[in-house]
Amino acid sequence: MKNWEKNIRKVVPYTPGEQPNQPDMIKLNTNENPYPPAPGVEKALKALDTDTLRLYPDPKAEILVKAIASYYNLKEEQVFVGVGSDDVIAMCFLTFFNSEKPILFPDITYSFYDVWADLFKIPYKRPALNDQFHIRKEDYVQPNGGIIFPNPNAPTGVSMPLAEIEEILINNRDVIVMIDEAYVDFGTESALSLIDKYDNLLVIQTFSKSRSLAGMRIGYAMGNPELIKYLNDVKYSFNSYTMNRTALAAGVASVNDREYFEETCRKIVETREWTKTELRKLGFSFGDSKANFIFAAHSECPAKELFEALRNEHIYVRYFAKPRIDNHLRITIGTDEEMQKLIAFLTGYLKNRENR
Ligand code: PMP
Repeated sequence: MKNWEKNIRKVVPYTPGEQPNQPDMIKLNTNENPYPPAPGVEKALKALDTDTLRLYPDPKAEILVKAIASYYNLKEEQVFVGVGSDDVIAMCFLTFFNSEKPILFPDITYSFYDVWADLFKIPYKRPALNDQFHIRKEDYVQPNGGIIFPNPNAPTGVSMPLAEIEEILINNRDVIVMIDEAYVDFGTESALSLIDKYDNLLVIQTFSKSRSLAGMRIGYAMGNPELIKYLNDVKYSFNSYTMNRTALAAGVASVNDREYFEETCRKIVETREWTKTELRKLGFSFGDSKANFIFAAHSECPAKELFEALRNEHIYVRYFAKPRIDNHLRITIGTDEEMQKLIAFLTGYLKNRENR
């Protein structure tokens, strides 16, 4: 080992889903939205005056903060925005998880949490999901330095009822509890209604899934003004200009079109429920996903084999070679046509396999 190496912060990074680029592909591997962003987004981007790019963007990201606050009936001081919810959550870890006690998140969950915890040297414990892949609320009643989990959870898609979230909050008044609501718009009750009651609650959402703007990188946190102030203090100690001018313009246009947003979410939920029925007929089982993906295992065929067979057809889904979940596929909900093609391929493949 070279001498300088011992002072290096060594990390095992998060592995993002593959971004293949084949003209004929069906891309169901990173929970993106198959529909375009609201029509106003294109207009806003076309109207952007390139000359303004000489100038720094507004460090307060005020137009976007205002639009989000007004959409959810909040005060501006209750909203923090960042470069995707990954950026927001990383900032939250840095700001709020500074205890010697371990933070808590499930053993099966968004695989970025342990990466951030390791990066920032935050101790953590990972209570196991039960056999049905549900978070056990009792596990979150123990000494801890903070709590985070997604609702619905990822990659399982399973939701926790709001009453259980409230129970966790009641039992954890002395630490910050973060609910990562990346997929909440596809049929889960948000914890936003609790932020006035619990000053230690932060609700984190994103424009990447339900608003079709993964490529723009916009995420936000909502909570009491004191928490948001602490978050901003850390942000301004790191990078003042996180939100660029294009993201601000696109974000505002997206939030302003409630009707398009609701219609897109409705279509995805409908396609998800159709896909569940078809997958069940083929011998797949899965929890009751309330997200824009289904986390499914087949009774006969190993997930890895299916993953590779699908990949050869340029149908991309996500496979995690990890304990407890290495026989599951996470399948993002695409358009009706894409899901029909997926089901048609799986039907043929499984039938051929049976006859082999
Ligand atoms: N939380 C969860 C649970 C996710 O699955 C994702 C998407 N990978 C994110 C947060 C981050 O999404 P983004 O940074 O695009 O907002």
